[in-house]
Amino acid sequence: MNRPVRIALVVLVAIAAVVIGTQFGWRIVLAPLLGLAIWAWARATLRSFLRHGQTGVSAADEPVPVGSDERTMYWCEECGTEVVLTVRGSGLPPRHCGTRMHERSEVLS
Ligand SMILES: [Zn+2]
Repeated sequence: MNRPVRIALVVLVAIAAVVIGTQFGWRIVLAPLLGLAIWAWARATLRSFLRHGQTGVSAADEPVPVGSDERTMYWCEECGTEVVLTVRGSGLPPRHCGTRMHERSEVLS
């Protein structure tokens, strides 16, 4: 639907809403609009939960032991906690203090 047609439709719906609101009461106009707003908010919230709940880790990802020639550490920017990685379960860094930890790899000789 192109823009002029969409604008004309919005103007027509607004005129119809004003006519219905003044003749039969504004509850008839505002109640469906409030219902649509609540429905849109609920859908957006649930989609957001679904999107943030996905970690990108599939069931096929097997934990892999980290090689002995390198040492991988994660450190928390907020509190300074450091974690040594012994088995890599996924490519995502762990979280601490509500943020992702920073990865630091050292090659051991
Ligand atoms: Zn922390």
